[in-house]
Amino acid sequence: MTAANGGRRCAAADQADPTPCEGRHTVVTVIDRNGAQHTGCIHHTARLLASLEGARLHPSAAVLPFACEVYCRADQLLPFPWQLGR
Ligand SMILES: [Zn+2]
Repeated sequence: MTAANGGRRCAAADQADPTPCEGRHTVVTVIDRNGAQHTGCIHHTARLLASLEGARLHPSAAVLPFACEVYCRADQLLPFPWQLGR
């Protein structure tokens, strides 16, 4: 969590994305194409994964029960869904 979002949402939540977090704020880590890590809730990491080109889940996610959940959700999303009001 950063001061930028007031600590109300996880670090994976885009500032332009108005949706609330789902569950704990630090369950999954997404790595973007530049190697930067974004740790967040299932909801926002899935949205991030769908939006960032070349993004992937951190290898540690393989042992997590919700890695598939994040992947499956990301697969159903369009990039930057919040720009479409979703
Ligand atoms: Zn979140």
